[in-house]
Amino acid sequence: MALIDLPAIEIAKKIRQGDLSAMDVLDATLTRVAEVDGRPGTLDYDEITKDDETKVHAFITLTAERARQQAERVDAMIDAGEDTGPLAGVPITIKDLFCVKGVRTTAASRILSGFTAPYSATIVERLEDAGAVILGKVNLDEFAYGSSTESSAFGPTTRNPWDLERVPGGSSGGSAAAVASGQGCLSLGTDTGGSIRQPAAFCGVVGVKPTYGRVSRYGTIAFASSLDCPGPLARNVSDAALMLSVMAGPDPRDSTAAARPVPDYLEGIDRGVKGMRIGLSPDYMHIAFPDFATGEIITEDLAGEIRDAALRAADVLAAAGAEIVENIPLPNSVFGIPAYFVISRVEASSNLHRFDGVKYGYRSRSDYQGLHEMYRKTRAEGFGLEPKLRILMGMYMSAGQLNKQYYQRALGIRRMIRADFQAVFDPAGAYRLDALLTPTTPTPAFKMGDIFGDSTLMQYADQLTVSANHAGVPAISIPSGLSAQGLPMGVQLIGPDYAEATLFRVGYAYEQATAHDDWRRVKPQILGEAD
Ligand code: GLN
Repeated sequence: MALIDLPAIEIAKKIRQGDLSAMDVLDATLTRVAEVDGRPGTLDYDEITKDDETKVHAFITLTAERARQQAERVDAMIDAGEDTGPLAGVPITIKDLFCVKGVRTTAASRILSGFTAPYSATIVERLEDAGAVILGKVNLDEFAYGSSTESSAFGPTTRNPWDLERVPGGSSGGSAAAVASGQGCLSLGTDTGGSIRQPAAFCGVVGVKPTYGRVSRYGTIAFASSLDCPGPLARNVSDAALMLSVMAGPDPRDSTAAARPVPDYLEGIDRGVKGMRIGLSPDYMHIAFPDFATGEIITEDLAGEIRDAALRAADVLAAAGAEIVENIPLPNSVFGIPAYFVISRVEASSNLHRFDGVKYGYRSRSDYQGLHEMYRKTRAEGFGLEPKLRILMGMYMSAGQLNKQYYQRALGIRRMIRADFQAVFDPAGAYRLDALLTPTTPTPAFKMGDIFGDSTLMQYADQLTVSANHAGVPAISIPSGLSAQGLPMGVQLIGPDYAEATLFRVGYAYEQATAHDDWRRVKPQILGEAD
């Protein structure tokens, strides 16, 4: 295994002990980027070349010079005997939805194409203060609206390192693809309906959606403010735990960041699962979607291998001493996507008002007469199809007479979904679960172009993840094996509010118990010949 493929914790340890320099790690990582990533995303990219098809294209902006300065700073601190923090010299990528001071920040949209962030997101600051070295900004669906990264205005489109014909998932697709291909140990993503966990599952990495409010959103470009959660993508559970320990916590600049102390998530991570109650729910073993002709809800069982991977994970945890509790009722999760469709669009349309050609980034270069025409042209040219659809839907469903019929109803469903979770995690209730175990996604990564263009079908990729966003509870996706086609699959652990430490503990126990499984030795296609 190449040195740069080691877990972040080990790389940081070697750097802090002086066995490795941050600059060496950075150079080796930039070599990997040069080998596997191909040209960074641009607007108006020309035809896809043959060469593009053999590369990952995780990056929109590579910040090699800035990274060198960071690595130099870390090395100088180590030479001077100063504490560099727990992420000393660890290469990391940032979803291009976070502000990084002095760096172009696009949200993968033309409308922000000329915007340079004047400040860094609080959590970006925290990661850098802990010694992390930012390699650059990685691709995503435009404004995080999607599940495949195909809706980005910047291309060539990001590809799945396990199968370059397939999508990496989304919206944090660049993040998951980067981690899976060794372009940095960690990545910072966001999850509004599944955008960290779904790409993590598609790319065979760990992804964490923390409790809503656990992590500050200051400096994060907003999608749906009541659902958005920044979180880590990482190679393993311990790295994700370390990264969350660094990021989480109150922030005077974000009043929704909870004023609760942050535990050291690594502490006690290896205590095992003996005596824990872990639930399986039939409501997470099928998918349900509307038949557009009749309006009826069609229910289909999940693909056998996806369901089996979750059941196998339950067996592993049972063998490690957990008590598996079956038939957990979560009857309202089936309405998660319809309710999300309404709430996320209403909030998205509201959050997009600020992009008007005046404050940030792009302004139409064509002729316009007066302010209104400038707004109209800027937004018509600057937004891609998906933001436009979401603006229309969001405005429609929150408009006077429809507000009650759609938006208020969706909020009611959201409360019911949260109540379901509260009931099953209630320590005095009938189920008393420590965690719920489910598959992360209904299918492994799909082929590029297969679903893109059908924004409703695309949305159903989040069927098993979205309810945790409605409920605000934490959830983590961990790799759980490979499908018959050799594609990664993930299982999800969901817990009660602020139970991230429990989820890390369960995930870690699973990782330990499966450490010698054959599938753990299989590498993504792109790394086949890399080392
Ligand atoms: N795929 C979902 C959507 O399109 C969720 C995206 C996200 O979590 N940011 O809205």
